[in-house]
Amino acid sequence: MNNIRNFCIIAHIDHGKSTLADRLLEITKTIPQRKMREQYLDQMDLERERGITIKLQPVRMVWHNYILNLIDTPGHVDFFYEVSRSLAAVEGAILLVDATQGIQAQTLSTLSMALKEGLTIIPVVNKIDLANAQPEEVIKELSVLLKVKPEEVLKISAKKGTNVEKLLERIIKKIPSPQEKEDAPFRALIFDSRFDEYKGVIIYLKVVEGEIKKGEKIKLLASNRESEVLEVGFFAPDLKESASLKSGEIGYLITGLKDLKSCRVGDTVAQVEYKGTKIQVQPLPGYKEVKPMIFAGLYCHEGTNFEKLKDALEKLKLTDAALSFELENSIALGPGFRGGFLGLLHLEIIQERLRREFGLEVIITSPTPAYRVILKKNHKEIIVHSPQELPRPEEIEYVEEPWMKIEIITPEEYIGPLLKLIKDNRGKFVSLDYLNQNLLSLRKNVMIKGEIPLTSLIANFYDKLKSVSSGFASFNYEFADYRRTDIVRLDVLVAGELVEALSMIVYQDTAYSSARKIVRTLKENLPRQLFEVKIQGVIGGKIIASERIPPLRKDVIAKLYGGDVSRKKKLLEKQKRGKKRMKLMGKVSIPAKVYLKILSR
Ligand code: GDP
Ligand code: MG
Repeated sequence: MNNIRNFCIIAHIDHGKSTLADRLLEITKTIPQRKMREQYLDQMDLERERGITIKLQPVRMVWHNYILNLIDTPGHVDFFYEVSRSLAAVEGAILLVDATQGIQAQTLSTLSMALKEGLTIIPVVNKIDLANAQPEEVIKELSVLLKVKPEEVLKISAKKGTNVEKLLERIIKKIPSPQEKEDAPFRALIFDSRFDEYKGVIIYLKVVEGEIKKGEKIKLLASNRESEVLEVGFFAPDLKESASLKSGEIGYLITGLKDLKSCRVGDTVAQVEYKGTKIQVQPLPGYKEVKPMIFAGLYCHEGTNFEKLKDALEKLKLTDAALSFELENSIALGPGFRGGFLGLLHLEIIQERLRREFGLEVIITSPTPAYRVILKKNHKEIIVHSPQELPRPEEIEYVEEPWMKIEIITPEEYIGPLLKLIKDNRGKFVSLDYLNQNLLSLRKNVMIKGEIPLTSLIANFYDKLKSVSSGFASFNYEFADYRRTDIVRLDVLVAGELVEALSMIVYQDTAYSSARKIVRTLKENLPRQLFEVKIQGVIGGKIIASERIPPLRKDVIAKLYGGDVSRKKKLLEKQKRGKKRMKLMGKVSIPAKVYLKILSR
């Protein structure tokens, strides 16, 4: 079947991917006019509202006897691995760049993955209808980057539909049809999956070899689960059942599986029997288990129900295999969970989904990376996800923290401030390259490569980057490796008692300033008591910062008139004795809002 074209659209957020998809649906008459609405393929409310595409629904279109399968790559690096699997499922990609913006860092990194997968790239400049569009500049950039002639870059307006038919022609002409091997056992790549309340797990796949039909037995190789095929079909874009799926095709498969855990992106689905005999099929290359990168506590607000949160997280897990969570108890915040996430956007999506889909407002404690701790005893290695899990300093041989590779694309005037930003965030500069040096372009863009600890990334690196570059720099990151670090656990004592929920992991060299900051925040926010309250920041038993909140002095002599000094003295003495007693017994209950001020992001 050399009439199939499988492709995706690589674009930075807002460069027009969803709008272009809408035009393709219209021109190919995939969606009847009366049903058409804007951003048709953006499924989640969250996506439609914020105008970001987290996931585009795959779709099969038919045009001039060709079958065109569009599948999506999520635009954000948190979903790096999913992007790589989507790219592995197609033969070509439209590289869509906004003519008013130029190429952005995340786009470049997705592009380099696409080139590694051997995809055919079709460069396209979008939004040429806008008055401030600079298509020629962007075309120059693209032609240098891809080593193609400027006339090979197509100029379109996804909004107006200009040249979109030409783009379809180019897709058919340039992108090769998938390689086929029909006379072989069925083998397919899972590039996505979804959980449906009625149908169970729906596997999105690209058939690499063979053919599959309803009723046949399949196996998921990485998770070693067998199941029967209940239905196969393609994306119209709603699920449309078909008789079979063949080599080269993109479609879906429904099994009896009831949760996404056993159905992982990147895994291979294979036939269990071929021509009457049991067989053992080799997995397709590239499968990787995704691991959460950052961890944060999830707690209920006062008045919401822990069981509800638990139930909601379990339901979300069905649809989001990358989410992980474990029970965690905090004295301050009550029972809750330690959640693991792919990155900050992933964390934000989960928080939003809890709110929208389950009506739950949750407290999220400040995220930390996973530390690798090597213990003195037997050089045993443990992974620490929260301050509470960090062993005492005397038990630790050393600690390692995750580092990330970062790539920043920026107009050259921001090089200085950005290099300083990397340095100030414990990062290292690696290299600097001009992207369009040999052009007489007005705007010279550079790519800065560097490395920084994940901790710095979590601490609002993105916002800082945007602010020092007036919004012009874009960046991308990727896990590099684990490196040795000097961290300690900072504990907080209030009135002599350890407040476990406020413990945090800090760098040794900033421990003093962190400790001073936290005790000061507490001093400013804790209500005064009838006794003096000491607030202390402690590391390994040593007090490194301390503040005191003076007692409230109740005006015990207010009701006395005149000058009976001895009576006054007597009352004050009595008050002093009372306070001394209270100080011994003094217990400070910390209001939830003070915790939140310190713990939440
Ligand atoms: P996505 O994030 O890549 O999916 O981008 P969208 O398709 O959501 O587009 C982002 C914004 O750009 C929307 O407001 C679109 O209406 C607008 N847009 C997309 N393509 C064009 C175009 O060709 N011309 C103009 N003027 N606006 C466009
Ligand atoms: Mg979109």
